[in-house]
Amino acid sequence: RNEGNVSISDLDELSSVSYPLCMRELHRSLKDSHHLRHWGRMQYGLFLKGIGVTLEDSLKFWRQEMGKGIGIDKFDKEHAYNIRHNYGKEGKRTNYTPYSCMTIITKNPPAAQDHHGCPFKHTSPDLLRQKLRSYKASSDVIEQIVELVKGQHFQIACQKYFEATHKVEDASFQVTHPNHYFDESQRILR
Ligand code: SF4
Repeated sequence: RNEGNVSISDLDELSSVSYPLCMRELHRSLKDSHHLRHWGRMQYGLFLKGIGVTLEDSLKFWRQEMGKGIGIDKFDKEHAYNIRHNYGKEGKRTNYTPYSCMTIITKNPPAAQDHHGCPFKHTSPDLLRQKLRSYKASSDVIEQIVELVKGQHFQIACQKYFEATHKVEDASFQVTHPNHYFDESQRILR
């Protein structure tokens, strides 16, 4: 996707139709609490960059959401730099790439107050059931997903979630990257 294709006013809608569960959770908790801890901001911030949100729009989005929590001034002082940094506009000017599933599953496991990580890997079966129910997954699908998760098949569980939410029999791709998941979803829905 090209930069600038996604408007921040579409993110609520996109999060419910085209985000993988990890990003849907981050979006929801940012909107609810106006706060995300460091790795959550990194995981979601780079994903947004990957789906084509421009630096300018990212700054606007994070300022709008986190500003409601810590205030605009504090946001500008403490967080705007990191967002520009993710876009390669500060520091070493590295152009950071969004995290793959492998990175999310194996690095920086979330602590209790965190919302980042892979929900299939990092959530207990009961909580996962509860989350999936809140997103209106059927009990059949929920149990299939929980079985896959128990066998440590996190990405296949994610694929099952994709198939259920897109009403397709076979997703015909393997989930290896949240941004790829998003692109495949948009390909089907557009
Ligand atoms: Fe996100 Fe990948 Fe986990 Fe799916 S498998 S929820 S895309 S980290």
